[in-house]
Amino acid sequence: MKRVIKMDPLEERIKQVRGKIEKAAKRAGRNAEEITLVAVTKTVPDEAIARAAGYGIEHMGENRVQELLQKIVYNNVIKWHFIGHLQTNKVKYIIGKVFLIHSLDRLELAEEIQDRSNKAGLVTPVLIQVNIAGEKTKSGICEASVLGLAEAVSQMPNISLQGLMTIPPWCEDPEEARAYFRRLREIRDEIAARKLKNADMKHLSMGMSGDFETAIEEGATIVRIGTAIFGSRSSKA
Ligand SMILES: *Cc1c(COP(=O)(O)O)cnc(C)c1O
Repeated sequence: MKRVIKMDPLEERIKQVRGKIEKAAKRAGRNAEEITLVAVTKTVPDEAIARAAGYGIEHMGENRVQELLQKIVYNNVIKWHFIGHLQTNKVKYIIGKVFLIHSLDRLELAEEIQDRSNKAGLVTPVLIQVNIAGEKTKSGICEASVLGLAEAVSQMPNISLQGLMTIPPWCEDPEEARAYFRRLREIRDEIAARKLKNADMKHLSMGMSGDFETAIEEGATIVRIGTAIFGSRSSKA
């Protein structure tokens, strides 16, 4: 009798995603090792998070402060990324607990992160979130104001600016997102050319389940992937 050992579907999906990241990197003449996979855990139970960690996922992302704090308690070896809209009055809860904040989008928020990081004796790494298509429903700073915010942040000694993040408009065809990814890279390059203090514009956080391969072709260094790893929201792993 043949014994078939069934692979955990979660492990299978992680392998698939990693394979696609590698292929996309290769197509673009890039090294897949320079791309960080952040598994997005919103609505995912602790048990699946622990399994994903067991399959080698080191970076995870949450978009709500409350959920993040609960998940950190059970999964404190993970490097946690904060990827959602951040209210100024919630900053104090996450300083010192997150590996990278992806969603800095206004001066007032930067000032609070600076203040809280200073009090904690820390330097907090951040990305500026750009509303690349100027959508009313999305957070992120508009393109015209990115440089001004980056310059202001570069004067804040307890913040380390590491690049940009965006969420392009939802499209059926990932090719439609390509121009937005390319534009984010151009803005990043423009800011990098200014050689601002405390700013190392190495990261482009762009690409989700539906379009991460296109994002990698356009230079993404961080991809944020939820459903392609944990399954659709109604059938989380
Ligand atoms: C939910 C979310 C993701 C992941 O989206 P999927 O399409 O499920 O991969 C990525 N980034 C942010 C900011 C999110 O809120």
